[in-house]
Amino acid sequence: MKSIYSITRKKLEDYFINNNDKKFRATQIFEWVYRKEINSFDEITNVNKDSIKKLKENFTFNFLKILRKQEDKDVKKYLFELSDGNKIESVVMYHDYGISICVSSQIGCNMGCAFCESGRLKKVRNLTVDEIVLQVLQVQKDINERISHIVIMGIGEPFDNYDNVIDFINIANDAYALAIGARHITVSTSGLVPKIYEFAKEYSQVNLAISLHAPNNEIRNKIMKINKVYDINQIINAVKDYIAITNRKVTFEYIMLKNVNDTDVCAKELANLIKGLNAYVNLIPYNETNNIEFKRSNTSQISRFYDILKKENINVTIRREFGSNVSAACGQLRSEN
Ligand code: SAH
Ligand code: SF4
Repeated sequence: MKSIYSITRKKLEDYFINNNDKKFRATQIFEWVYRKEINSFDEITNVNKDSIKKLKENFTFNFLKILRKQEDKDVKKYLFELSDGNKIESVVMYHDYGISICVSSQIGCNMGCAFCESGRLKKVRNLTVDEIVLQVLQVQKDINERISHIVIMGIGEPFDNYDNVIDFINIANDAYALAIGARHITVSTSGLVPKIYEFAKEYSQVNLAISLHAPNNEIRNKIMKINKVYDINQIINAVKDYIAITNRKVTFEYIMLKNVNDTDVCAKELANLIKGLNAYVNLIPYNETNNIEFKRSNTSQISRFYDILKKENINVTIRREFGSNVSAACGQLRSEN
């Protein structure tokens, strides 16, 4: 049995065609599932009994269990329990432009970035498509307001769960499902280069963010072990290809780690690295965690770094902070608990 929340409309169309049924039933079912938010196939009134009977033999309605909610100003963190007992977190943030949710894509993460709390637990498994969809659907229901933006920046490396993340994006973007515009969806990757090439061809309107965090391989090798597999040059080449195909601006995320990657020299090196690219840098004040020794850069150093990039004509922003009081900020989400 498959979760009804795990299937894209296209795949559900194929299911109906293979069952000698009408292709348009997929859209009908999606309207019931995502618009009317039914909990059982019995609630469907405009589809014949045989089709419903078959659907029930193949698909099921499942839900995540909300174990805990923590609230702070403009932010809510949800701890979910999955059907096998594993736990994940999602965070919803209230902005002036709408409401965004940060979803998890895996239980744990294998990339082993030295500064990240999410990665302290090795990957247990990938999340299934429905487990990602349900984070959005159930939070939306719980807050009783429409979520307008999705960032795939919770626990896990989305491109290490590529196929499921792609199906999730498809359902998120589908006007008959979560109906979130592609430009309101952002995927963040630590730099799995082959997948950046694939992604450019597949989802050209979805925002891509690259967790760069260092201006050279020497520093990046020390904090992100994935850099020993795909180094900075390979990432920059993939990003150039992505921009050429999609004509979209790429975000480079850069965590400010005190005395690690935050010097003036680093800022200049970063500017040289990305000069001329259709990209911008998002400087992230590091969220310190109890278990990891890295420190956040001083506010004055973050400003200096910002000014140097600006002077070099690099587009740069400093990320607004959310939820550090409830450990809901980027890099503070955990699969344990
Ligand atoms: N695995 C993906 C997406 C999840 S991490 C990735 O690495 O891009 C989301 C973002 O949070 C990444 O940019 C990550 O580097 C950053 N991050 C991790 N730990 C952090 C911390 N303690 N403080 C601030 N940002 C952190
Ligand atoms: Fe994984 Fe991203 Fe954390 Fe690195 S920063 S360990 S890739 S979740």
